[in-house]
Amino acid sequence: MKIALIAHDGKKADMVHFLSGFRERLQKADVDLVATGTTGSHIEKAGFEVEKLLSGPYGGDAQIAALAAQKELAMVVFFRDPLDKHPHEPDVQMLMRICDVHNIPLATNPASADLMFKAFTQT
Ligand code: PGA
Repeated sequence: MKIALIAHDGKKADMVHFLSGFRERLQKADVDLVATGTTGSHIEKAGFEVEKLLSGPYGGDAQIAALAAQKELAMVVFFRDPLDKHPHEPDVQMLMRICDVHNIPLATNPASADLMFKAFTQT
């Protein structure tokens, strides 16, 4: 299973900070990370191994939604920026809808992601 990671530009630093707090637990959990392109580059620079898909506005969110529909994702962490506009808003809505269709845990802010990661990495 994979954990999908997406962060809008205003939230990329939050994503790296969040993941860094779970570095050891993630290593032990033996889970693969997959991310949209630019988010993935930031995560990679922080020392994580991550599969990078297309950038969000170029179809990356849609690719993550496809993985969700194929039941390849344990959860989706999507730090959205509610104070900014996004050209790919329809893709964002589609991804969230697909998560609901397939009952896939979806966290859209660090507080909920923290609870999900703690549950997921509990041994
Ligand atoms: P990005 O895409 O990681 O390529 O910036 C994220 C998004 O905006 O959906």
